[in-house]
Amino acid sequence: MIRIASLFFVVFGCPTLSLAQVNPSLIQAGIDAFNAYTLSDAQVADYSRQAVQQMDAKNSVAGPNDPYTQRLNTIVVRHHKVSGLPINYKVYKVADVNAFATADGSVRVFKGLMDVMTDNELLAIMGHEIGHVINHDSRDAMKSALKRSAVRNAVASNSGTLGKLSRSQLGGVADYMLGASFSRRQETEADDYSYDFLKRNGYNVMALATSFEKLAKLSGGGQGGRVAAIISTHPDSKSRADRVRDRARRDGLAR
Ligand SMILES: [Zn+2]
Repeated sequence: MIRIASLFFVVFGCPTLSLAQVNPSLIQAGIDAFNAYTLSDAQVADYSRQAVQQMDAKNSVAGPNDPYTQRLNTIVVRHHKVSGLPINYKVYKVADVNAFATADGSVRVFKGLMDVMTDNELLAIMGHEIGHVINHDSRDAMKSALKRSAVRNAVASNSGTLGKLSRSQLGGVADYMLGASFSRRQETEADDYSYDFLKRNGYNVMALATSFEKLAKLSGGGQGGRVAAIISTHPDSKSRADRVRDRARRDGLAR
């Protein structure tokens, strides 16, 4: 997950309900009901889709004739299906250096990221984010987001199922989903997925290394607030870039 610290406020505004306002017995009922209820992958994808729809409604989405949309469409023209998963792409005309992908196959790329990355570097970053989806990291993060929302709002306490979520509940779910930080292993595997994606499609795999290096450099170059959290959710940019370079050298793809 690549994100910036201010995203929550950009997208969702302030949280309206805190744990302290929820009756503890309702919270326990929510936990019990949620734990008793098995979410299918299709249901998780559906909740992800709803959360992304809400984010799309709250952000400035670039229109079909917008130069940013046209550039993104050109970059992903061969990749509307990745590893069998249909992907829908949109640009948020937001200055933050950010991108994310969700379990339903939605990829959102921010204008700020497009302004600083080459086409290949954007593919490398989208490949990494899609890797989290294909590896089911995004699904698992969404499940835990739903669980936390169920706990916070006790939404599952009555019927033992998660029905249609209200706007504020969806906002809470999307917040937790975006705030999810993946383990080091998950990040390494998403890097590997992106590397393989670039390699099998004939792109320069070095773009994965240079995108990390660029993010690291940007964070130290005065754009602090806009990119700092990318580094905090993706630590060790330097060693990850080195790992990509090593692999490319072994594959004879370092150029
Ligand atoms: Zn990641």
